[in-house]
Amino acid sequence: MKAQIIYDNIARKGFRSGWGFSCLVDEKILFDTGEEPVSIFDNMQKLNVDIDKIKAVVISHDHWDHTGGLWELLKRRKGLKVYACPGFSRAFKDKVNQVQGVMIETEPYQEVDQNIAVTGQIEGEYKGADMPEQALVVKTEHGITVITGCSHPGIVNMVKNVKDRFPRSKIYQVFGGFHLMDHDPRAVQQIVTAIKDMGVEKVGPTHCTGHKAEKVFEKDFGNNYITIEAGKVLDI
Ligand SMILES: [Zn+2]
Ligand SMILES: [Zn+2]
Repeated sequence: MKAQIIYDNIARKGFRSGWGFSCLVDEKILFDTGEEPVSIFDNMQKLNVDIDKIKAVVISHDHWDHTGGLWELLKRRKGLKVYACPGFSRAFKDKVNQVQGVMIETEPYQEVDQNIAVTGQIEGEYKGADMPEQALVVKTEHGITVITGCSHPGIVNMVKNVKDRFPRSKIYQVFGGFHLMDHDPRAVQQIVTAIKDMGVEKVGPTHCTGHKAEKVFEKDFGNNYITIEAGKVLDI
């Protein structure tokens, strides 16, 4: 199965970058929508994405750098399913309805397509306020791939949630925003160790992870460190 990185802070040559994250799984499930619609659609076109093939959108959490492209997409694809956490803002849910998206408030490990599910809401916090978030969980021949938006509930907490649900399955890789900008390298090292202890083989921290924290992961994971950038296609 493949995952195409549609939007990220860094981009391959010829692709647009911007603050936020978006990734298309198996050409049909869009996870997050970045910040800025023009870049999203431009990058999708360059990756030869057929927008009509997208079956549903999963939004990790209610932050502008993950929901920015959603409204334009819903205008073009009326009736598209949007999987969001129950704890998202009223304003978000109303806006989805206004542009004729189909709002689905997720339950734990709800399936959105064959072998593709959400974790469902995990409680998180951002600047002292509640910020519930969900990750995407994809089962492939390699094991489980976990894709995160910002990881406001904590990346260890999110991976552990998946591990608790599937204790006998291998977590092959985890990528997306890990939100570790405020962590010093020692604290990041503890997180790296905790993730390794859960048997995660590959990691691709990006977006709000922070450059310094990314370096700690890169040093520890070596060849199993994945650089994420818009325009990249990953085997998952
Ligand atoms: Zn973010
Ligand atoms: Zn965020």
